[in-house]
Amino acid sequence: MILLFVGPKGSGKDTQTQLLESSGFANISTGSLFRQEMQDNTELGMKSKQYYDAGKLVPDELVLEILKKHISKAEADDIVLNGVVRTLEQIKPTEEMLASIEKKIDKVIYFNLSDEEAVKRLANRWTCPVCNTVYHTLFDPPKVAGVCDKDGAALLQRADDKPDAVKMRLSEDRTKTGPVVDHYREIGILHEIDGSKSIEEVASELHELIKVFKEQQ
Ligand code: AMP
Repeated sequence: MILLFVGPKGSGKDTQTQLLESSGFANISTGSLFRQEMQDNTELGMKSKQYYDAGKLVPDELVLEILKKHISKAEADDIVLNGVVRTLEQIKPTEEMLASIEKKIDKVIYFNLSDEEAVKRLANRWTCPVCNTVYHTLFDPPKVAGVCDKDGAALLQRADDKPDAVKMRLSEDRTKTGPVVDHYREIGILHEIDGSKSIEEVASELHELIKVFKEQQ
């Protein structure tokens, strides 16, 4: 089963993807794949950096390239495509690419969250530069402040989590991701989740939804 997660920055997509990853889903998060490519100084990473750091969307051809590179390595049948489709224009090429490897998006989960709540959350978000684990100083803090639980690296605030980049991204989200949500709602595969609920509440709602989706397959 392939799930596509859409929703504004800070709406909990990354956290829920990480939770599903620990229950066997492959995690294809384009945002974190771009971070990984930039960290490894690959050509793809270098080409994406200027857009990424400014909080802008990376051009579609780079998104498709990164998706193709990493999805072909995914071993699990259950996959979360987290933030992979963010504009109406990305839908067709993404679906064509998936079809070329005999895959398709089965369900789309829309994490709905107000801008106000998103800004509040993002100001407290810290990321491990080594393993990309995301922490939140209020909701999901590391055991030792400022240090990653998994590898002891000093946590950083992502360039795109800084206030100016956040505001730019939220307004881009609203204008660009809105039509993606409308499209999947129209074709009847969209499920909306209230992203303002707690991590546990959203995780349990997702768990129930996935159970139902699997029964329908
Ligand atoms: P995220 O980790 O989801 O907040 O994504 C971080 C950054 O990665 C975004 O601000 C974009 O620069 C880039 N990015 C990730 N996915 C996409 C996509 N589907 N289309 C364009 N840019 C993307």
